[in-house]
Amino acid sequence: MLKVNGINVYYGNIQAIKDVSLEINQGEIVTLIGANGAGKSTLLKTISGLLKPKKGEVLFQDKSIAGKAAQTIVKQGISHVPEGRRVFANMTVEENLELGAYLRKDKAEIKRDFEKVFELFPRLLERKKQQSGTLSGGEQQMLAMGRALMARPKLLLLDEPSMGLAPLLVKTIFRIIEEINKTGTTILLVEQNANMALSIADRVYVIETGKVVLSGTADELNASDQLKMAYLGGH
Ligand code: ATP
Repeated sequence: MLKVNGINVYYGNIQAIKDVSLEINQGEIVTLIGANGAGKSTLLKTISGLLKPKKGEVLFQDKSIAGKAAQTIVKQGISHVPEGRRVFANMTVEENLELGAYLRKDKAEIKRDFEKVFELFPRLLERKKQQSGTLSGGEQQMLAMGRALMARPKLLLLDEPSMGLAPLLVKTIFRIIEEINKTGTTILLVEQNANMALSIADRVYVIETGKVVLSGTADELNASDQLKMAYLGGH
């Protein structure tokens, strides 16, 4: 579904991504793990069009998307939930969700997707008229995910959805990610918590200082000493 082939990404003179290739098949949950500053968020931003690779290709359903405008990429079916759950604080929950669907014209289907999001996140339904800035951190994460789902993505990019949440809520968020995946959405998940990531993923890529150093199925990586080394090495 998605193929990243040998991309290099720079911030000015600093190279954040070095010749990275990866692949995501339809229906999978793939996770990217790695220490702070490894380049995980940069990679997601490059896929969703917020950054342009200097070299290499990004193919989504066999079409090149590298360097295309973020809006065009959303239309093609990729939604990105960035780190830090950026919701529009002065707008209500409902208005934030509406914004997620702003590129769509299929009104009846949009209405159905509202219902689906409220089924996944009943808390958002209870709070639909509430100003988003007054939601708790976990509720804002739910809203950021719900807003991305309102674009009806084929591929959902999630950047550290568990960050800063209480353990019980982390479990809930992961259960919901699995539910979203079961209804047919392919998922690329960035996660620092390697154990949580491995428990949910089909396949895993480990990134260190801008390079993929290890990849495989979740089972393979669970059994890998190299993963423990790479992961502990970063902390
Ligand atoms: P974290 O888990 O801490 O979010 P990450 O793996 O997502 O880390 P990135 O945010 O992709 O890492 O950062 C990769 C590298 O690029 C880091 O060295 C970072 O300092 C650098 N970087 C990120 N954003 C910028 C920017 N806007 N300008 C300059 N350098 C940046």
